Amino acid sequence: MLALASGALAGGYGVVTVQSGESLGEIAHRYRIGTEALRAANGLGASNLIRPGDVLRVPLGEATGGIVEAAPDPPPGFRRHVLGTGETLSGIVARYGISIAALVGANPDLSSLDRLPTGVELLIPPGEGLVVTLFDPSELADLIEHHGADAATVARANGIRSPFDLRPGMLLFLPGVQPSGSLERLARVREEENRYIWPVHGRLTSYFGRRNLGMGTSNFHRGIDVAAPTGTPIIAARSGTVTFSGWSTRGYGNLVRIRHAGGAETWYAHASRLLVSVGQYVNQGERIALIGSTGLSTGPHLHFELHVSGTAIDPLGELR
Ligand SMILES: [Zn+2]
Repeated sequence: MLALASGALAGGYGVVTVQSGESLGEIAHRYRIGTEALRAANGLGASNLIRPGDVLRVPLGEATGGIVEAAPDPPPGFRRHVLGTGETLSGIVARYGISIAALVGANPDLSSLDRLPTGVELLIPPGEGLVVTLFDPSELADLIEHHGADAATVARANGIRSPFDLRPGMLLFLPGVQPSGSLERLARVREEENRYIWPVHGRLTSYFGRRNLGMGTSNFHRGIDVAAPTGTPIIAARSGTVTFSGWSTRGYGNLVRIRHAGGAETWYAHASRLLVSVGQYVNQGERIALIGSTGLSTGPHLHFELHVSGTAIDPLGELR
């Protein structure tokens, strides 16, 4: 059996001591990395020769097997939660009575707030704060100062009574420190994942595409129509900069156009009132206008268009 040297984590490597009778191939297999990668990480060249007692470095980035045993323990007072099928982060924070910011602070490397795979292990913190890795114990003071944390509070929260309680690679909880960087990154990820949200909820009265107007005539409907009572707020489907807010001479009535990252535009037509002006930056979900029936319209509704690369496309498949 292979023993993991206690607390031996450094620079993305786990450290294992070779036991009697074990081969390099077996060790590589156990940690699910290539023999090649294991040789390279230990400067073994083309040789597979190892001896009992040799200390090998196992690259953590490539290991997917037993090396997880070497994952550092969470700070005191933390619990672990393995994400089950159908579970959401909002459900988890409600269950443990913590905030999303606290959950993100405990798991600052989360890849997404909405699309986490089942089986992901989350740390559940005792309160608000940020979990960081202490790669080098001599950096503790710098780390605390960098995050604006309080040394005594950090020592108490992590059960540190002397420098001997510090280990390279240990997880440190910094109570009260906001995970601002992670929250900003996750907000960008969320927007990337849910690019467009419904600008208004209501009955879909007309789809994108050619429509028959009767009497042998038809036209191409460049958006979708959503019926809603006059005065209902229309929200920005995605954040961006307002490029038009005013009266359209092309039948749109009161129209708002918003340009988004990457160049796509969303158009919101027939509004009774406009709430934004040209040049203004609006966040996804922010109110931009009120439902109306201005321009060529037969009743209160939102005519919504999505333009990508200058062409109106069917927005239905993009809305979430
Ligand atoms: Zn329409």
